[in-house]
Amino acid sequence: MEKTDIKSLNLEELTAFITASGEKAFRAKQLYEWMHKKLAPGYEEMTNLPKSLKERLKETCDYTSLQTVDEKISAIDGTRKYLFGLSDGNIIESVLMRYKHGNSVCISSQVGCRMGCRFCASTLDGLERNLRPAEMLDQIYRIQYLTGERISNVVIMGSGEPMDNYDNVVKFIRLLTDEHGLNISQRNITLSTCGIVPGILKLADEGLAITLALSLHAPDDEVRKTLMPVANRYKLNDVLEACHTYFEKTGRRLTFEYSLVSGVNDNLEEAAALAALIKDQQGHVNLIPVNPIKERDYVQSDRKAIEAFKNLLEKNGINVTIRREMGRDIHGACGQLRKSFLCQEQKGSEKTL
Ligand code: SAH
Repeated sequence: MEKTDIKSLNLEELTAFITASGEKAFRAKQLYEWMHKKLAPGYEEMTNLPKSLKERLKETCDYTSLQTVDEKISAIDGTRKYLFGLSDGNIIESVLMRYKHGNSVCISSQVGCRMGCRFCASTLDGLERNLRPAEMLDQIYRIQYLTGERISNVVIMGSGEPMDNYDNVVKFIRLLTDEHGLNISQRNITLSTCGIVPGILKLADEGLAITLALSLHAPDDEVRKTLMPVANRYKLNDVLEACHTYFEKTGRRLTFEYSLVSGVNDNLEEAAALAALIKDQQGHVNLIPVNPIKERDYVQSDRKAIEAFKNLLEKNGINVTIRREMGRDIHGACGQLRKSFLCQEQKGSEKTL
């Protein structure tokens, strides 16, 4: 029989599970608090639960508790990047960024990714598997537990495409924002997607007040297709219409991410086309200087080109920010640390063959 993934249950489900085994309902509440508020790494710490119950849970349930495989701290800005081990041996990465307005964690939603964006390290080895809600939660729980600092913001912008793991991601958001758990404000959560139209429309109807970020990266379908294979499935017009629906239904302003790649999507005609494309949208553009990966020969736009691109957008009435590069010295971008870790492992095992 498959074991119950106990940390992925909401309080209602946990109460049903616990009472079905003859325990009182208040035990479920205690257990939920240990898992989601006190962030216990295991049953040992749960001092107010009877030993017999803990023994039974150990037999019938999986208790997700990520193992820290590596932690890198940026000498430039104090950003911390974590490599966590899952119970099946897979490795994922998460990032803690410290801002004046609070601590933000960037989580992975899948092991690997199958979207194939050309500049992204997460997708180089394809998709391994989806993460369960508990495995997404525990990235935040471990970091808060290890640092002792409260996490106030979460961005679903690490490895993986959240819309490709839709049900688990939505359940994760509900657990993360549950008043009986960490109770993080929905407004402080951002979900970034490469633009899967049915996912965006479904999310618009969930009644969640989270921010939607769209990875745009080009002002037209042709350039976008050269960077993002998903552009062959969904046309930009349809993606933007879905984003507008998201805004209308949730009232949440959108973020448009645009990674600047030298000579590919960074000239001023493209800036003008981008401004025209989103002028009727409620949102802002976040320019990201592309973080080159060694497997591809994309080059970051130079500072002057980035400033010129930004100025032209602003002249056309678009709100725009340039994303600060956090943790560049520790493989800051999506999937890069995991990739370099897996490469080293491979080299190590080749040596021993
Ligand atoms: N799959 C989701 C979320 C993951 S990536 C998405 O596509 O939105 C988060 C953002 O970082 C995306 O906008 C992605 O396109 C961008 N990104 C990934 N690798 C990058 C790199 N090497 N340089 C710059 N931006 C990158």
